[in-house]
Amino acid sequence: MIKKTIQLTGLDCANCASELERTIEKIEGVRSASLTFVNQRLYVEYDNESVWEKIVYAANHFEEVHVVEKVEKRSNYTKEWVRIGVSVFCFLLGFLLERFGNSIGIKIGAYIAYAIAYVSVGFSVWVATCKNVAKGKIFDENFLMTIASVGAVCLGEIFEGVAVMLLYTLGETLQSIAVEASRGSLVTLMEMKSEKTTALRKTDGKTALFEISPEEVQIGDKLIVKTGERIPVDGVLLSDKAELDMKALTGETELGKRTKGDELLSGCINVGAVFQMQAMRIYEHSAVGRILDMVENAAAGKAAPEKFITRFARIYTPVVCALALILAIVAPFLNGVFIGAGFQFVNASRWIRSALTFLVVSCPCALVISVPLTYFSGIGACAKSGILVKGATYLDTVAKADIVAFDKTGTLTEGNFTVCKVITEEGVLQEDLLSLVATVEKNSAHPIAQAFKSYASIDNVEDIQELSGRGVTGVVDGKKLLVGNAKLLQEYGIAFSKYESPYTLVYVALDGKCLGVVEVGDKIKEEAKSVVEALRSLGIKRSVMLTGDNAARAQKIADEAGVYEVNAELLPDGKLQSAEKLKRQGTLLYVGDGINDAPVMVAADCAVSMGKLGSAAAIEASDLVLVSDDLNALPRVIRIAKKTRRIVMQNIVFSIIMKVAFMALGVAGILQLWLAVFADVGVMLLAVLNSLRVQK
Ligand code: ADP
Ligand code: MG
Repeated sequence: MIKKTIQLTGLDCANCASELERTIEKIEGVRSASLTFVNQRLYVEYDNESVWEKIVYAANHFEEVHVVEKVEKRSNYTKEWVRIGVSVFCFLLGFLLERFGNSIGIKIGAYIAYAIAYVSVGFSVWVATCKNVAKGKIFDENFLMTIASVGAVCLGEIFEGVAVMLLYTLGETLQSIAVEASRGSLVTLMEMKSEKTTALRKTDGKTALFEISPEEVQIGDKLIVKTGERIPVDGVLLSDKAELDMKALTGETELGKRTKGDELLSGCINVGAVFQMQAMRIYEHSAVGRILDMVENAAAGKAAPEKFITRFARIYTPVVCALALILAIVAPFLNGVFIGAGFQFVNASRWIRSALTFLVVSCPCALVISVPLTYFSGIGACAKSGILVKGATYLDTVAKADIVAFDKTGTLTEGNFTVCKVITEEGVLQEDLLSLVATVEKNSAHPIAQAFKSYASIDNVEDIQELSGRGVTGVVDGKKLLVGNAKLLQEYGIAFSKYESPYTLVYVALDGKCLGVVEVGDKIKEEAKSVVEALRSLGIKRSVMLTGDNAARAQKIADEAGVYEVNAELLPDGKLQSAEKLKRQGTLLYVGDGINDAPVMVAADCAVSMGKLGSAAAIEASDLVLVSDDLNALPRVIRIAKKTRRIVMQNIVFSIIMKVAFMALGVAGILQLWLAVFADVGVMLLAVLNSLRVQK
């Protein structure tokens, strides 16, 4: 299966977006399609390359839509404003002439002014209507507005007819500006990508400086990062030191100091002196490339309320239009029968007006636009504070979470292990023990392995294997070497005396005999306690720790962090079982570092991975990524998620209530047509503005 994202342009209504989405979904060979109106991106999953052409063809032949490389930011609405300005002027002129003029000539002048006012805003609406009707699409807002305005004019209400079109166009323009503004919030994020970078490359035996784009950087390239420039790709520092502004990655202004040999993540700005670095990853696999890719595609994972709205819109419009028709035809008869006078035209025109009100409110724009926009803003707000959300649906899950399960190592603790104490059996030298450990740990990605990085290793070791949740094994001179926790030794039936310690213990056994044990320690994260407390006050009912470490050590960390439930000494599948059990008791949010716990991440309702932007596996398995190691982002994302959900619900309830109210007023004959448009546009704009509030 192939997954791809296409950038579209010219998609001008949210309803059309869901229609195009369905059209593409129906193409044979397309597994799924998700189109986000706000950023006009289409995410598709399909079987083979031949399907691709059909997708592009379908998109290119849908209304005014085009497939493009990159969407231009639209900041210029002059054409719209000129049309609206001309229309408003002529409209007012017409109104004054009609009111106060008393000669026939002036009356005619008034109608001419109205006509200009109508055409200047209505022309494009008509063109769109004709195109759509020709394609058999009748429940389109342009068509509905045309009928409503023409209907009003036919009933002799020229003023209303013009007002309907004018207000509608004004509303549409304001809406595009608002949507553009929210796109802007992610565009600023896109700025974390640097345009150009300087590389030192050898050509013809000479080294020269080249200005290249981040995409052109190759692994191993030497790069020069000047003051004020962004790091283009991930790499290692070659100069003695570097000072970095990490805001792009963490959302907080903090100064990051790095020294020679440290890893540098792309996106950070050099705020110190110029330095040299060596590229370790290509752009696409670097932090920036991954973040942008994720953020741009995040909106494709639609949340349940979004899907609900699309389905709702599909039936709402036809139903309301049908009601309008019934109102226009059946009501006058009933009315006539009721007063015993048969069908009367006076009554009919009163009911036709009511019916037109229905047509005006039959567009579900307020919902169709504001709900996805709210999620989009929510994802943007998260991205700004260093939290990457892979889909709107996960934002929803986070808002509903009631249990949070933490992994211990690297999540609640710093994950920076150091050797604290070495206890050896008689006749074993400490250095020998440590170098045995160092030799096999070199191949492990577990944070514990870091503790042994600086010890010398031996070379005659073969067949190194990592047993997740237990440790590492190897073969030295034909003898089996075991390095790991007590469980590992028990598994191999090796006799050893168990130590009790509040630290993590790494046992070492060679050829069936225990040689000793190394105590490695790592500190609890400073913010762990306050974060667990904050989660509680945000409505998380239970915090649980799941760990493969020994019970004593686990309990100590849990006490320090204020976590009341501990499940210790779990093997990876034990973690999985614990998580599945918790999931049955409520919505489970799992927070881990992605090392040894990918299966748990997949099983949890929503998985958050910590910091490890360098680790592709963690990003792959999790639904949310906290870019910095800072746990404080966790309560932050819950707050944003809850706010997003609240605003979505507000918009849904508010818009539906208002629509129903307008329909009731329309039936009662109280609501004038232009007031109905005014109110409907107002509701839509209020809902859109409400969505933008997430960013605050
Ligand atoms: P946690 O992240 O909760 O500590 P893990 O599943 O990552 O859980 O690891 C469980 C335990 O397995 C560790 O506490 C450690 O005792 C042991 N272990 C795992 N990998 C290694 C390793 N590379 N070296 C030594 N011990 C290891
Ligand atoms: Mg772990």
